[in-house]
Amino acid sequence: MKYIIVTGGVLSGLGKGITSSSIGVLLQRSKHRVTAVKIDPYLNCDAGTMNPYEHGEVFVMTDGSEVDLDLGNYERFLNCNLTAIHNITTGKVFRTVIEKERRGDYLGQTVQIIPHVVREIVDSIRAAAEGASAEICLVELGGTVGDIESMPFLEAMRQLHREEGHANVMFVHTTLVPVMGAVGEQKTKPTQHSVKELQGLGIRPDLIVGRSEKTLDKDIAAKIAFFADIPPENVVSAPDAKSIYHVPVLFQEQDVPKLVATRLKLKRREPDMTQWKDFAKRASDGKREVEIALIGKYTGLKDSYISHEETLRYAGALEGVRVRIRWLEAPDLEDADSTKALDGVSGVLVPGGFGSRGAEGKIMAAHWARENKVPYLGICFGFQLAVVEFARNALGMEGANSVELDPDSPHPVVDLLPEQREVIEKGATMRLGDHDIALDAGAAYELYGRDSIQERHRHRFEINPDYIAQLEAAGLRFTGRDTSGRRMEVLELEGHPYFIASQFHPEFKSRPDAPSPLHLGLVRAALER
Ligand code: GLN
Repeated sequence: MKYIIVTGGVLSGLGKGITSSSIGVLLQRSKHRVTAVKIDPYLNCDAGTMNPYEHGEVFVMTDGSEVDLDLGNYERFLNCNLTAIHNITTGKVFRTVIEKERRGDYLGQTVQIIPHVVREIVDSIRAAAEGASAEICLVELGGTVGDIESMPFLEAMRQLHREEGHANVMFVHTTLVPVMGAVGEQKTKPTQHSVKELQGLGIRPDLIVGRSEKTLDKDIAAKIAFFADIPPENVVSAPDAKSIYHVPVLFQEQDVPKLVATRLKLKRREPDMTQWKDFAKRASDGKREVEIALIGKYTGLKDSYISHEETLRYAGALEGVRVRIRWLEAPDLEDADSTKALDGVSGVLVPGGFGSRGAEGKIMAAHWARENKVPYLGICFGFQLAVVEFARNALGMEGANSVELDPDSPHPVVDLLPEQREVIEKGATMRLGDHDIALDAGAAYELYGRDSIQERHRHRFEINPDYIAQLEAAGLRFTGRDTSGRRMEVLELEGHPYFIASQFHPEFKSRPDAPSPLHLGLVRAALER
């Protein structure tokens, strides 16, 4: 097993995830089996209890784990399905260590960060790598070198390097190279400091990836190399790219595959990037443009909806168009004249969400799309609220609502899942991950091209079975159900060009060459307007 450890210096948000997944793409396309681990040095056991404003979208994996959005990037870039063991958090590690202590596993020892917590980290990384039957495991350490939170993890990386041997573990350090002054000089000092910090912890970076607006000047790269004590060609530029999908290509041009192969003594094969390059081009060069409104509650941080954004991009790439997203904050859509904000869009997407803030704005958007026959896609909360809207305005059920938003609603068309009634704890207790869905004839069936699908879930509420007959009689058909038949999974509106919603989240399974069929349907319908 070979390990590529990716750390970050200077500040967060440098694209460590994109750096490591891009290296992964290059290795994968050189016919190596690659997997990835993301480390999040926070005390939450998983990302499920976190507000998207903290770290962006909560990504859901096949096994129902709620994880950092970087895992979504890995799944999309590497076209793989990862599981819980691929996301290590401080909370998870501490929980295991404390459980072991309570069981008496440490046999009278004083349990400490070193060695016990660090040992647990090393073991978890190995378990994830080996479990995936890969040859190369990318390990991305979240946060910034120098944070107190990262210390046990960096120590674990140092030990991993020692135990596995130099030829089996390499370090990639991503840093910021800021540009200062009128002349636009690239500054190396922050990089020098963070490399020094890393070296002080016993880790010598083998490759330094410098994020900057432009390609690093030759003498700047040489200066970084000199201070880090590495060859100048091991300093890689990560300039602003047209899209994240261009980053693997930029790395290939700088011989990253060769540098990695030499350092890790891998069999050297030239990566075949033909398909990838073609996709990257289609993903950003579409001539026609189509605009879709995305109605969210955290649109101030676009990463909150990253899987939708990427999925729409993939759908656009397939159709040869650029999908422009009009980001709309749901609470802003709650005034009487707020439909103006939707003027001119060719489609509406209401993604998943929780709680009452902005819910009425989302209901308004669903209403507007239904009345004006504008293509609509509702996901999870967007599915439930489309039913609320229809019950209120097409069936005249005044006060119809989800009990999540109004526990005393006279028409609780969206109700708590029966198995959720006794649930008190919030962490990892929703209906999560892959479940089977049976599709009846209809638009969703046409788009998927089969009658049995598996998609990922993350919800506590469902369409109240008591209202199904009335809703269906009025033209809202439930064309997808779980295998028991009592849980609604897909709805379609009769007599509307495209009004579809799903209880599940198809955006999580989207891949560059295989976007979610429902998002693809939205883009196609939007193009036909
Ligand atoms: N809040 C809703 C529920 O819990 C929808 C969840 C979601 O959109 N992910 O069922």
